[in-house]
Amino acid sequence: MSFRVRVAAAAVLAAALPLSLAACGGGSGGDENKVVIGTKFDQPGLGLKNPDGSMSGFDVDVATYVAEQLGYTPDQIEWKEAPSGQRETLIQNGQVDFIAATYSITDARKEKVSFAGPYLVTGQSLLVRADNSDIVGAESLENNKKLCSVTGSTPAQRIKDKYPGVQLQQYDTYSACVEALKSGAIDAVTTDEVILAGYAAQDPGTFKLVGEPFSEENYGIGLKKDDSELQTKINDAITKMETEGAWAAAFEKNLGPAGIATPEPPAIAK
Ligand code: GLU
Repeated sequence: MSFRVRVAAAAVLAAALPLSLAACGGGSGGDENKVVIGTKFDQPGLGLKNPDGSMSGFDVDVATYVAEQLGYTPDQIEWKEAPSGQRETLIQNGQVDFIAATYSITDARKEKVSFAGPYLVTGQSLLVRADNSDIVGAESLENNKKLCSVTGSTPAQRIKDKYPGVQLQQYDTYSACVEALKSGAIDAVTTDEVILAGYAAQDPGTFKLVGEPFSEENYGIGLKKDDSELQTKINDAITKMETEGAWAAAFEKNLGPAGIATPEPPAIAK
């Protein structure tokens, strides 16, 4: 190419550089053309990364709807895995714009992040092997049973607070707990009923849920603390999803196969 063309090309390249750098930055800020959303990658029915790389689940559908209301098409979403114990940090460090990952709204977490929603209410329950007959509720675990839950989760904290006699093992993910349950390394898994129902449905005849839910978990969308502008926009998006019927359709599609009847959506927190 001629000198003049080369100079022009270099100028174009230089002008383009800041943009492409911003695009590599990830997280919030910098790149207007994508949104980074944290979710679970291993929870069928809620947040699952499929073998072909696509994402599915109720949290994924809610987050995708919210992103669309914020002006992002589905292919402008970058999904980032958000394990229970890392969610506050991912938000605080700006590695994600928001998180929809079976994330309970709690006062302790509100000291570090803010929440939109709630968009789903569930409760803590227990999953055991289908042939088990001596675990009927949290109390029966104090009888030398090994229970698995996840580091940094509300169900693990509740067991430590209310059932200190239980042998609790904390893993990084619920899918690891479910594998250990299947192999016999542990006796039960505890977390929210919707999550456990998703694992049970994935492996028919292998597991069963026992007892009544023993907490109330309100799922919210986690975002940077005190970003009330984003919080309001996400609350408006959730409300629109609910009134349009897309919320119920997403619930039925993702959690209906696990045998959970579609409830009324919860009211947004004031
Ligand atoms: N909803 C509970 C929590 O936020 C349990 C599920 C989870 O760990 O994602 O801790």
